Amino acid sequence: MGSQEVSTVDWQGKHVTVAGLGVSGIPAARALHERGALVTVVNDGDDERSRSQAAELEALGVTVRLGDGATLPPSTELVVTAPGWQPDKPLFLAAAEAGVPVWGDVELAWRLRGDDGREPAPWLAVTGTNGKTTTVRMLASILEAAGLRTAAVGNIGVSLLDAVLGETEYDVLAVELSSYQLHWAPSLRAHSAAVLNLAPDHLDWHGSMEAYAADKGRVYEGNTVACVYNAADPATEDLVREADVEEGCRAIGFTLGTPGPSQLGVVDGLLVDRAFVADRQKQAQELAEVADVNPPAPHNVANALAAAALARAFGVEPAAVRDGLRAFRPDAHRIEHVADIGEVAYVDDSKATNTHATEASLAAYDSIVWIAGGLAKGATFDELVTGAAKRLRGVVLMGADRALIHEALTRHAPDVPVVDLDRTDTGAMSEAVARAAELARPGDTVLLAPACASMDMFTNYNKRGEAFADAVRARADETA
Ligand code: ADP
Repeated sequence: MGSQEVSTVDWQGKHVTVAGLGVSGIPAARALHERGALVTVVNDGDDERSRSQAAELEALGVTVRLGDGATLPPSTELVVTAPGWQPDKPLFLAAAEAGVPVWGDVELAWRLRGDDGREPAPWLAVTGTNGKTTTVRMLASILEAAGLRTAAVGNIGVSLLDAVLGETEYDVLAVELSSYQLHWAPSLRAHSAAVLNLAPDHLDWHGSMEAYAADKGRVYEGNTVACVYNAADPATEDLVREADVEEGCRAIGFTLGTPGPSQLGVVDGLLVDRAFVADRQKQAQELAEVADVNPPAPHNVANALAAAALARAFGVEPAAVRDGLRAFRPDAHRIEHVADIGEVAYVDDSKATNTHATEASLAAYDSIVWIAGGLAKGATFDELVTGAAKRLRGVVLMGADRALIHEALTRHAPDVPVVDLDRTDTGAMSEAVARAAELARPGDTVLLAPACASMDMFTNYNKRGEAFADAVRARADETA
């Protein structure tokens, strides 16, 4: 199916089972019910919250089955699932056996777009292990600067279904897609798409690195204008090669080095385009300065190049790329500069919840006091520590799996001083900041980039980042 074709499903009387009563399940059930489908929602949980949500849906005429998300209702013709449901659940095995298709929230949004007769907006899609949210928001900022009606949607916390069915009209959507969402989106066909990078993550869900990569690679299927890949990450280029795209669709690389033909890259502090120019053998178009990227850390410049490539694929002028990048403000807890105290910078990258993200933020500074630790999720730290050893002034460790990082430091950076905080109470982060401040010298950066999940000590990475920022600000006030 070409990207602008709209599929028209006759929903009247169709038996649809919605798996999961959550942020995507409830709007899906409503949308399908409104179109005449006979909807049954199945949900594992049976707590107070799900009971009140069920009551609201039942009042509309939707059937809800709480406490049993495993059994497939016999008349089911289609399953629409929450993206996080693991593919080996009995419900999906039963569906496969019965030949019943399974769609995720993204597939449903894709299929319903334009079914009210409006011209659907094309999708510019972004996936990858790290940098998705940042890139999608940069892309939306660039598209806005170009005067286009757009929004950053998808895995970013804004439902695609709402964007597609809502009243607001869009010229183009900047869509963040997770590997789970792509797994369940077989017919999605983006205008153009980017895979930013590929590192092991969520392997328990996908089953293997190959399966994870294959799901990410689906984002390129049927692209019409450009498949954007990371020239420094050959696995992303392999996915482009394997994808079945529309005729004329181009492979466009981004690189932090000098770009070759059909690439975007960096030359003398400038972001330049050698892909979307009249003569890519001889010509290069200046898009912006590296200093226009906020913050201009190398991995973030890569994100900006990927966003620029998608925008240029959509026909955006160079000046709008520059203006959009300048207007972009990073989300909280992503390499966020909190304060300078006595010539030491304090930076909050609480969102660095895996080693791949932390590797990128450690690479962005020359001399670092690193605050790390939490739940390791099965990760190993040898490579991370080896790569950063030279730049570490000292390390403060906290959280459940801190010993794993400590052991890696002992093996690969035995001269780096390490403070091991054996406490998990609410004051632990203040002590971590105080101990980091003792280790830091003028010109250093104290960097919270935990390489771990936060749930052993905090509700989520936001709370962890806030605790860090609060402790830093309290310190700044004391020393002011
Ligand atoms: P995602 O939406 O993929 O989780 P975010 O933009 O929220 O990505 O960034 C998550 C973390 O990944 C941040 O802490 C940041 O330090 C790191 N990061 C961002 N971009 C990249 C990149 N291109 N490569 C590696 N790490 C990155």
